[in-house]
Amino acid sequence: MKKVIVVLTTKVATFNNYVNGEWKESVGNKTFNSVNPANNEDIVGRFQASNEQDVQLAIESAQKAFPGWSQTAPSKRASILNQAASILEQNVQALAEELTREEGKHVDDAKNEVIRSAQTLRYYAVEGQSFTGETYPNDDSNMKVSTEREPLGVVSVITPWNFPLSIPARKIAPALITGNTVVFKPSSDTPLIALRLVEALDKAGIPKGVINFVTGKASDVGDLLVTHPAVRAVTFTGSTAAGEDIHKKAGFTTRTQMELGGKNPLIVMDDADLNLAATLVVNGGFSLTGQACTGTSRVIVLRDVKDEFVQKLVEKTSALKIGHGFEPGVKIGPLANEKQLKNVLKYVEYGKQDGATLEYGGDHLTFGEYQKGYYVKPAIFTNVNSNSRIAKEEIFGPVVAVIEVDTYEEAIAIANDVEYGLSASIVTNNLRIANQFTKDIQAGTVKVNRTTTGNLMNAPFGGLKKSSTSTFRESGRVGLEFFTQLKTVYMGF
Ligand code: NAD
Repeated sequence: MKKVIVVLTTKVATFNNYVNGEWKESVGNKTFNSVNPANNEDIVGRFQASNEQDVQLAIESAQKAFPGWSQTAPSKRASILNQAASILEQNVQALAEELTREEGKHVDDAKNEVIRSAQTLRYYAVEGQSFTGETYPNDDSNMKVSTEREPLGVVSVITPWNFPLSIPARKIAPALITGNTVVFKPSSDTPLIALRLVEALDKAGIPKGVINFVTGKASDVGDLLVTHPAVRAVTFTGSTAAGEDIHKKAGFTTRTQMELGGKNPLIVMDDADLNLAATLVVNGGFSLTGQACTGTSRVIVLRDVKDEFVQKLVEKTSALKIGHGFEPGVKIGPLANEKQLKNVLKYVEYGKQDGATLEYGGDHLTFGEYQKGYYVKPAIFTNVNSNSRIAKEEIFGPVVAVIEVDTYEEAIAIANDVEYGLSASIVTNNLRIANQFTKDIQAGTVKVNRTTTGNLMNAPFGGLKKSSTSTFRESGRVGLEFFTQLKTVYMGF
């Protein structure tokens, strides 16, 4: 009897760019795959491998839409953002599952991200409507002097994969509410969830050309997004290397807003609650598999309490369940892509070569359920030399370097002795030291007895030194400044 072989194939969907209100294939008709980092045989979707012609069309469409959108009533702009927020909220479970499948974070974290993104749209829908200029008293009773805020024009939005929905939301919402039009290029690791945000805006009735979405490699589309003369501003989140490149290429009249890398320290003082300190390091260093820009990557601990602290840290870390983002109780998912995996393993080797003690983890997990994913055991290094590579360079993965010191002054000197300045924390019960820390530390986000990670939607966010361009902050009310220009008006009656 003849054997019948049944081959089961799951059809992989192809997704398009969104230009001038239409979902379109790229001009070059090429695609790339977005892959599930928990199972590299699972292709999430095929996306347009766009080229400069696609970017050109997207920018032209944004340029054409600008006069109409900038004159649209703010309440109408706000209602579109609110409607898009409702669409995200109504689909939270499905969107969270897509986000997990594409990026790897736990589905509970993914749900929080979807909800946070919807809240961000709603926040700017309100805040943006009352963002205005000021009136200045003057000696001429027949004259009023005031400032007016105007949108800039076309804004390029370029984003990373680690918060693939909430970072775009916190850039696109303030851009749109203030009357700008947008060309959005997401990371090629997470184009699907980014597309869902554009889809929500489309369903919410955004006029054609106001938001445009182009996927593809940075080397194919990145330059034109930054250098096209119609682009008035580039808001970028990603690595410091890419940010520096973009900053250099952008023209004299193009504004840039850069949220970049970090090497975030947490100082453990000798009066600290060591249980709290260990919990903060586990949560700040290993949640999202260490892939938060504000993640804790250096722990600077007073020598007297180092042994007890490290013991607690290892204990808590070894209790973390590693696995698929859909499994209940999982705290560490896969790294987001193969490049990330190789990078983390490279730094684990650097740590060993540079003489640090690998106290826990650092293994590449390749057995059973981990086989097809990019899994590593979180790594804790002790006896780390503060000048070594794992103490100085951004790793962007679950690797924590513990550095011992004798005094607060030594701790601060080491904390500040890196090129980054994104986020920092101290664990202490000493109010004087806590207050001193807020002044001494070179970081844009300063925490006391809290994780280095996490920031409020309504408070400014950004870094110092090479973590940001230190020009315009994101988030909160000040997040609107980047997207508007000021005119000072002297009105004589
Ligand atoms: P990345 O710099 O490789 O890419 C980010 C985005 O920029 C992607 O869309 C990419 O395609 C694009 N890009 C890269 N080079 C470009 C260029 N020369 N011109 C134009 N576009 C370019 O970063 P990533 O790997 O996606 O994300 C990880 C990095 O992001 C880490 O360094 C992390 O610290 C940083 N990050 C920072 C923040 C923050 O708010 N400071 C938040 C999240 C992530």
